[in-house]
Amino acid sequence: MGIKVSKFGGSSLADAAQFQKVKEILFADGDRRIVVPSAPGKRSKTDVKVTDLLYECNRLAGAGQDIEPAFSKIRERYQGIAAQLGLHVDLDAQLEEIAKNIKLGAGADYAASRGEYLNGILLADYLGWDFVDAKTGIFFDEEGRLDSEKTQERLGAILKQHAYAVVPGFYGCDTHGNVKTFSRGGSDITGAIVARAANADLYENWTDVSGCLMADPRIVRNPEPIRYVTYRELRELSYMGASVLHEDAIFPVRIAGIPTNIRNTNQPDEPGTIIGYEAEDYESEHMITGIAGHKDFAIIAVEKAMMNAELGFGRRVLQALEEEGVSFEHMPSGIDTMSVVVSEDSVEGKKERLIARIHELCSPDSVEIHSGLALIATVGRGMVRSKGTSAKLFNALMKAGINVRLIDQGSSELNIIVGVDNLDFENAVRAIYRAFVVKEPRW
Ligand code: ASP
Repeated sequence: MGIKVSKFGGSSLADAAQFQKVKEILFADGDRRIVVPSAPGKRSKTDVKVTDLLYECNRLAGAGQDIEPAFSKIRERYQGIAAQLGLHVDLDAQLEEIAKNIKLGAGADYAASRGEYLNGILLADYLGWDFVDAKTGIFFDEEGRLDSEKTQERLGAILKQHAYAVVPGFYGCDTHGNVKTFSRGGSDITGAIVARAANADLYENWTDVSGCLMADPRIVRNPEPIRYVTYRELRELSYMGASVLHEDAIFPVRIAGIPTNIRNTNQPDEPGTIIGYEAEDYESEHMITGIAGHKDFAIIAVEKAMMNAELGFGRRVLQALEEEGVSFEHMPSGIDTMSVVVSEDSVEGKKERLIARIHELCSPDSVEIHSGLALIATVGRGMVRSKGTSAKLFNALMKAGINVRLIDQGSSELNIIVGVDNLDFENAVRAIYRAFVVKEPRW
């Protein structure tokens, strides 16, 4: 028998009806033996997540105000779910204890973590599974980073003692024995850590979408779903703005060689997206896996004759950026030119100083900063083996009348990045999508 660790997001556990769907999913496959819940999320667009209510309670307590207006909503949510599911677990004492601790100044991490903690208790009762408090198995170090080794060892040992377990997401224990949370959306990270510690065969991440799409649906109408994507491809796509999983949820499963499957709680028959370890594991249906990008970058273009022969030139340009606290995104360079791509935000109000400092440090022939650049990454493990990918891409952009301002093909051959005017961004994404994915344009 294998082990699947199933993490359910907040919208998947927002009310009693969602709890029922979760139970059905879990009981449909005997390998699903460990579940990681988030706190109840929004039931509608105007609803408030329990985590946000808990942060609000903490804020009110800090300001010496009554927490009851926010806390009563939290109480109602949990008691409502418990009553509708006919659970016998008594949450009253726990709720009052939590309210008391928040008032006494237990802090933001403690307050926020109680959303997952209480949901875990409810879910464990509903399923008849064991509740394992994440504070006993997930540890942070002095610097507030995950202590992977200790966690792996302790959590692994704990999980061995439970045939079926519920481990609440989002938090663990700091070096002083206090609760500490991950950053927002961190239950994804808990799921990945638990999958690694349990030596799982699969990490299932259940949410409200059927996996990743090949392009942003706000730009391309009905984009195709991505059936398989490698961890490296996903990293490139998420860096460019495609977001499905918390970034830090990749590492624990990636090093353990465990695939992740993004699934939809509301459409459990759909296969979702599998994020796999090796490119060779999966044949890709299209030459590319996905397209992602975003607007508002700037290029710092530096020119100097014989730049290539000058030792330390690049370092001095980057020194000027470092002094101003600007980190760079890409650096496609020619023989006598160097282009540094930065986010528009990061150079706001610093452009003149940067230009002056580069002049001082590097004595270039010219330095210019061009704004209004959008970057688009076309990502695909299939690109390594197929000829003509770039030709197809640039041809598509040319036919759409789009001027390419920058090209950067990483040495991984997994990714071609093009820079276009902000104004051309959406058209460029559609043109690339049309060239690689759709035979007959759908729009
Ligand atoms: N409940 C937490 C949040 O809203 C963690 C999570 O849902 O993953 O950020």
